[in-house]
Amino acid sequence: DFSAKEVAESFLTATNEAEKLNAFITLTPDHALKQAEKADKDRASGQLKPLSGVPLGIKDLFCTNGYRTTAASKIIDNFVPPYESTITEKLFSAGAGMVGKLNLDQFAMGSSNETSAFGNVISPWRQKGDDTALTPGGSSGGSAAAVAAKLVPAATGTDTGGSIRQPASFTGITGLKPTYGRCSRYGVIAFASSLDQAGPMAHSVKDCAALLEVMAGFDPKDSTSVDVMVPNWEKLLSSDIRGKKIGIPKEYRVDGMAPEIESLWQRGIDMMKDAGAEIIDVSLPHTQHALAAYYIIAPAEASSNLARYDGVRYGERKTPEGGNLADMYAATRAAGFGDEVKRRIMIGTYVLSAGFYDAYYIKAQKIRALIARDFEAAFDKCDILLTPATPTAAFALGQKQEDPIAMYLNDVFTVPASLAGLPAMTVPVGLNEQGLPLGLQLIGKPLDEQSVLNAGLALE
Ligand code: GLN
Repeated sequence: DFSAKEVAESFLTATNEAEKLNAFITLTPDHALKQAEKADKDRASGQLKPLSGVPLGIKDLFCTNGYRTTAASKIIDNFVPPYESTITEKLFSAGAGMVGKLNLDQFAMGSSNETSAFGNVISPWRQKGDDTALTPGGSSGGSAAAVAAKLVPAATGTDTGGSIRQPASFTGITGLKPTYGRCSRYGVIAFASSLDQAGPMAHSVKDCAALLEVMAGFDPKDSTSVDVMVPNWEKLLSSDIRGKKIGIPKEYRVDGMAPEIESLWQRGIDMMKDAGAEIIDVSLPHTQHALAAYYIIAPAEASSNLARYDGVRYGERKTPEGGNLADMYAATRAAGFGDEVKRRIMIGTYVLSAGFYDAYYIKAQKIRALIARDFEAAFDKCDILLTPATPTAAFALGQKQEDPIAMYLNDVFTVPASLAGLPAMTVPVGLNEQGLPLGLQLIGKPLDEQSVLNAGLALE
């Protein structure tokens, strides 16, 4: 029987020891200890809160009042927000403490955590008999590595095109991207506002349910947050999925699919069948265009969101001698943004420019609508979709760094649910022959996180 303070102290020690994973950008022991002391008092007075004494890691994309928030970019590496994101506010009010701010791909753009200005994160996993350092995935790579290495019991992540689900798959943990609008985006540094959604990353479906219950809810400060009740997901959890219809979308069986992914998928299908669910073949005909549409829409929104980093209001300012205001903007942005962020800004401004807007941006929006309709039609026939989460297991650091297209291909299975705003979760389902974890993805109807969680429980 430990006090919350002892628990916090032991996690803080582990965190210091695990420095080599580079999972944290900033450690915040004072916050964790302060919350732990409160939890101990609450327990003494019999007034425990839902997350009393739980020391969390917070992705460094969430603004935390009085604690440096960097988005893993040099352009705001000295930014100390004077306000709290709604999600961290809710977590802390529910009693959770913050051990530190977790590393990520710069502005959440990436799939390997290698675009961080604070260095890549190293996965705690290794292939059997091979000490090559592996990526934990991205962009929530620090969150995934810290949870997988048990530096924290759970962490927050954000997911724009797969950044919770892909790193969860690479590190053998559970990660849930809720329905778009379930969680407030207030105080979460924006990447692509029509896609960004925060969610929990943890060791079990149950922990994800408990965390999401605290994180979710309408927020008048985010006009896209949905004004619906937050269910008691944790209490209503049930692995009884007898009679549920599980859709298997045939378009996800992509050419050249790795045999280990194919057999993992089959294993998931068999587990569902054994649990009494009905397996149904469905079609999502526009799937093949999802990745291209995402890599137009996300950069377009990013180019607009990132226009605010101009050296006037945030971050470090570069003032070239004899230069004018435009020179100051250019020098500041050239020095402050990393290569991948610059690539996204250039793609984004290009597809939004007068001559190309119809050919790229509008077309991508049309594809997005078709993809959303594909899902609607599929959900007439089934309750949940089961798909792979990633096309491969975790790859070696550096392996895809020079090849953006290869990096973007990581997201083939996660991006469609993002474009349609649907809840989706990765659950670890096994290890491959090299001993690396692999996850499967469950996709649900809008606001039906409960079915996603329940089906996830049946896969655990
Ligand atoms: N890997 C995708 C990208 O780079 C997804 C990132 C995310 O979900 N934040 O855009």
